[in-house]
Amino acid sequence: MRIKLTAEPGSARNNKTGSWRVERRPQFLQKNCSACRMCILVCPEGIVSGKEKNSFKTDYLYCKGCGLCAAVCPKKDIEMVPEETESKK
Ligand code: SF4
Ligand code: SF4
Repeated sequence: MRIKLTAEPGSARNNKTGSWRVERRPQFLQKNCSACRMCILVCPEGIVSGKEKNSFKTDYLYCKGCGLCAAVCPKKDIEMVPEETESKK
């Protein structure tokens, strides 16, 4: 008998984990993006989307605010901003 100990990647899709964010959220500036897709690759929730330069964004309903996307962005085109900051992206 097998016991499943971990959740599947992207399992936040089943639970609106955006409410878990307590301090900061990523803001995709869409100014210097090179479409390298690193933010897509590192997001543990699989919620970053985009194809063309300066088109990348996340789904705040599920974003936990872990900051990995901002940490890996080679163009510094994602900023972690205070949760109360109004985001248009
Ligand atoms: S902060 Fe970035 S990497 Fe973390 S869950 Fe949100 S979109 Fe994904
Ligand atoms: S990591 Fe930064 S430069 Fe690369 S696709 Fe994402 S936003 Fe664009």
